[in-house]
Amino acid sequence: MTEEQLRDYLRFYQDIGFKTLYRRREQPPPPFAVVPPPALEFIMPAPPPKRPLAPPPPAPEQLLSVLPSLAPEGDTMARIREDISDCQRCRLSKGRNKIVFGSGNEASPLVFVGEGPGADEDASGLPFVGRAGQLLTQMIDGTASKEGIAIKRSDVYICNVVKCRPPENRTPEADEMEVCGQFLFRQLLAIRPKAICAMGSTATKALLGTKEGVMKLRVNWKKWRDIPVMVTYHPSYLLRPYNQNAKREAWEDLKKVLHFVYD
Ligand code: URA
Repeated sequence: MTEEQLRDYLRFYQDIGFKTLYRRREQPPPPFAVVPPPALEFIMPAPPPKRPLAPPPPAPEQLLSVLPSLAPEGDTMARIREDISDCQRCRLSKGRNKIVFGSGNEASPLVFVGEGPGADEDASGLPFVGRAGQLLTQMIDGTASKEGIAIKRSDVYICNVVKCRPPENRTPEADEMEVCGQFLFRQLLAIRPKAICAMGSTATKALLGTKEGVMKLRVNWKKWRDIPVMVTYHPSYLLRPYNQNAKREAWEDLKKVLHFVYD
């Protein structure tokens, strides 16, 4: 066996998990009956040189300064509205009646993010005004009052990932989310809330960049940039009769969010 073949052979064993291999050194024939044990010679290939250590991750408070800016200097909600204007940046503009920018308190410490407008929202230009919206209002107002937190729906800010209604209420496509997401990000940076509540998988994907499901991501705080994000079910999902368990869980999520923001 050539030396190269031997090395390949050893690498094979290394790949399948053998950490160390030894070879018995050739011994001359013993001159007498008692032979000392043969010396073992280490013959494994030299380990690869160590890579320099990666720099430590930035502290959360430094994060905003190292991430690329998503918004123009001194951005405001008025300026974002102006920039959206009569947006024709993606195909959703073709079928919309009204752009649904967002509603509520633009200085709120809490922002709720949904997916995109439905028929009622497209007609009115306001987010969450249909059946799902009524449930959201009940959830916010009801939970706050039960928990002794003096806020109503109008005290928080509510918006969507895409600002125009997708045809047949289909899920927004990746390129639509990408284009419209820049306005969502600018809204969040202009408001700088204490927390964000991501409702449903589209909002979760837009903010956290993950395809993992709401069920798995809810309960524990996540972050968008340096802002805490609580993932929860979309109100439309909670309207389906077979998701009543999720309704109880969504109330728990909301309770946690309201106490975190307003206590
Ligand atoms: N669903 C959403 O995600 N947003 C709305 O505004 C209405 C329904």
